[in-house]
Order: sequence, then C-alpha cells, then structure tokens
Amino acid sequence: MANQFIEFQEQVEAVKARQNRGEITEAEQNDLLRKMQLKDDAWGDTWMLSPQGTWFRQAKGSDKWMPDFPVALVDPDDLPPVPQMSLPQIARAVHDCTRCPLHQGRTRPVPGEGNPKAEIMLIGEGPGYHEDKQARPFVGASGKFLEQLLDHIGYQREDVFITNVVKCRPPKNRDPQPDELEACQDYLERQTQLIDPKVIVTLGRYSMARYFPGASISKIHGQPKRVGQRLIVPMFHPAAALHQPKYRSSIIEDFNKLPQFIAEAAGFREEKGPGPDNVEQLSLF
Ligand code: URA
Ligand code: SF4
Repeated sequence: MANQFIEFQEQVEAVKARQNRGEITEAEQNDLLRKMQLKDDAWGDTWMLSPQGTWFRQAKGSDKWMPDFPVALVDPDDLPPVPQMSLPQIARAVHDCTRCPLHQGRTRPVPGEGNPKAEIMLIGEGPGYHEDKQARPFVGASGKFLEQLLDHIGYQREDVFITNVVKCRPPKNRDPQPDELEACQDYLERQTQLIDPKVIVTLGRYSMARYFPGASISKIHGQPKRVGQRLIVPMFHPAAALHQPKYRSSIIEDFNKLPQFIAEAAGFREEKGPGPDNVEQLSLF
C-alpha cells in the first residue's frame, strides 16, 4: 500500500533518526519537520507530521492547522465492523460510505475533527457548503461563533471534538431525514465511545433528539442530563443564535456553564472509578 503519505512518513522518520544519531539538534529537527509539508494529490490539502507523530491537516481553502488523519493510511479492505473501529478507521469508513442517499450529493464527507481525548464533544446537524468543500465541521460563520464561545471558557477548537449527526452534506442544506440519521448513527456512536467526553453539547434539534426525544429546545436548553458517565447539554444551534439576539444570549449563558458541568462529570467519574461502565448505555432514537 505504498502512497505519498507512507513516503512522507518515512522522510520524517529519516529526519528523526538523524537527531537520534546526534547529527542534528532537537531544535534543528523540529525546524526541519515544520518545513516538511505534503500536498495531498487528491484534495489539495496540506499535511504535516509533528515530532510526536501527530498528523496535522490544513484543508484547502482554510488557514487553520488541525490534528487529523490521512485516510489513505487506512487499508479500506481491512476494516473491522464500525463498533470496533478506531478514529482513523471511522474517518476512512465515512470517506467511502454509501449507507444513505446523502453520499450522492457530497463533495467530501466530514467525519469530525479535534482532540481524540476531548472533555467536550460538540454535535451539530450536518455539513454545509464550506464544510463539504473542506471536509471540516463548522468552518463557516457559525463555526467562528462557536470558536468565540469556546474562547470565553478558555478552550480552543483543538481542545474539543466537533462532529455532526450526519457526516455528508444534505442537498441545499435541507434537514437530515430519519433514514439518513439512522444510517449514520453508528459512526457517531463509536466516536462517542472512543473519545469518551465528560460532556456532550448537542447543537440544534437533530442532535438534541438523539438524547431528548420529543423535547423542546426552548424549554430544556442549558439543562444537563446524565447519561451513563457523562452529561448531555442541549443548546441552540449557533447558526440560529448568531442572528437572533434572544438565542444568542442563551447560548452564551449555556456555554459559560460548561466548566461547571465538566467538574460535575469529573466528580461522578471519580466516585465510580474508571472501567467498562464508563461506556454509556444506549437506548437512543
Ligand atoms: N452547521 C452544522 O450543524 N454543522 C456544521 O458542520 C456546520 C454548520
Ligand atoms: Fe454514510 Fe453518514 Fe454519509 Fe450517509 S451521511 S453516506 S450514512 S457517512
């Protein structure tokens, strides 16, 4: 399975080996690695590999470097069932997925991005125009607003994990349909188990419905519900909150409560101790 990513990885390893042999200093090694960039043939994204072995991607059309994983490094013929996949394998499976009709209209699927050990996971609705081009969630105006909300509580985008209930863009940004939500839920489910966030923030109706079927967002926003070893907090969608002052102040208020909810979840996790019970029991949808 030789490909440009494997070759690039080998070139990075060669630089690290020079440092190990004492031929260059660590600072020189890091400087060289920062300059080594790979332009992805398929999509025009730029990739780097940190000395610690983390891949970073700068999507074409974006100025942001985010931790990510090249799907070309996962063998598509050797994927376990979704409930046993790793995050890179999920990204690969989503990349090739044809489980629901949304695959027909997508440019690029958007598996989600961020810290694989995030305390906070944010779940939106589905990719829009720019997300579909860049294969990144929340990169438009609502994404900027989300970054400001995170900044207020001392978090950066890279600290959290951001994804959506459907990974492919619905045509003309229409609402995701029940069959599409159902087809895609396995991926989200598995991501949640692997990341194991203390707090999940649902943004908008469709991700709220996963945990609060039939609820009204105006009534329950900002009020956490404990599910297994985490808290689920429903919030307004930032796209709605961006333009409507009453939602805007609500989402700011709700976001500012997150540190308190993280501390609360950390408290009940400590009582319980780590273990398989940390995986939430699912009776969703
Ligand atoms: N809105 C969403 O719900 N998700 C995105 O990724 C972008 C906008
Ligand atoms: Fe597959 Fe989800 Fe995309 Fe549908 S939306 S094709 S289920 S990844």
